[in-house]
Amino acid sequence: MSTVPSIALSDGTSIPQLGLGTYKLDDEAVVPVVHAALEIGYRHLDTAKIYRNEAGVGRAIASSGIARDDIYVTTKLWNDDHLKAREALEASLERLGLDRVDLYLIHWPFHQAGTAARAWEQMVELREAGLTTSIGVSNFLPEHLDALAAISEVVPVINQIEVHPLLQQAELRADCARRGIRVESWGPLGHGSVSMAEELPALAAIADAHGKTVAQTVLRWHIQEGLIVFPKSSHVERLRENFDIFDFALTEADMQAIRALNEDRRVGVHPYEGNWS
Ligand code: NAD
Repeated sequence: MSTVPSIALSDGTSIPQLGLGTYKLDDEAVVPVVHAALEIGYRHLDTAKIYRNEAGVGRAIASSGIARDDIYVTTKLWNDDHLKAREALEASLERLGLDRVDLYLIHWPFHQAGTAARAWEQMVELREAGLTTSIGVSNFLPEHLDALAAISEVVPVINQIEVHPLLQQAELRADCARRGIRVESWGPLGHGSVSMAEELPALAAIADAHGKTVAQTVLRWHIQEGLIVFPKSSHVERLRENFDIFDFALTEADMQAIRALNEDRRVGVHPYEGNWS
């Protein structure tokens, strides 16, 4: 059985470095996927209000037979809820059937509304009230992090951003590191929009040299970069494949070769370009 490393966060807690993403799995579909993942050994689940699957994630946790405290659960504050974060988290907890989450993230800076700093003040209160153990952000650029720093001494523990070999985000990751913020990679395998194997044929040789698949090689790159990662799949074989990445290590030459594949190419939405209406 693979052992998933823990990453220490700046608030004294820790998070399993590998988890399961649940985007695009609805309340029904997510239940057997979470069950299969927990059976394989995953202990970290990433959901969000906007994924409309919190109830399914909660049902799967409750019926898994695994103690709630042994599973790390993240959910996210949606844009419309920036000014009513408590109500939003209470509703998420109700759907999840939990009395607290491990991590609550502001999903997007939603700069059009200018409400992220107000949301952050409430996030701090929610942590103090014990409704979430840790608080962080997602899709924040340095200017968005500056805006929080201007009104609060509490630094997000996490910034969850799009990262994969085509979009490695070295500058933003370095900025987060300077602030003591750990980075989570969303869309680690290409967000279901592109295939890393097709886009970057050079990955195949590295994968072959280790007797691993391209997906495992990419996920291992994230792990060795110190990123926290939660690939999504609804197929049990792929859930197993994505978890089976702790029995090999990429060499420094492999890591450099993958770093050289960066094209600064997003496959998801830019924080400033979302259509939020
Ligand atoms: P991902 O990179 O995890 O890609 C998922 C897709 O990759 C699958 O649908 C499948 O097509 C493919 N795949 C999975 N395993 C594979 C394997 N072993 N071999 C080949 N192909 C494989 O994309 P994602 O789901 O967008 O990102 C992961 C998680 O990040 C999400 O599920 C969600 O929890 C989170 N997320 C957050 C944000 C945000 O704004 N904060 C945005 C997108 C996703």
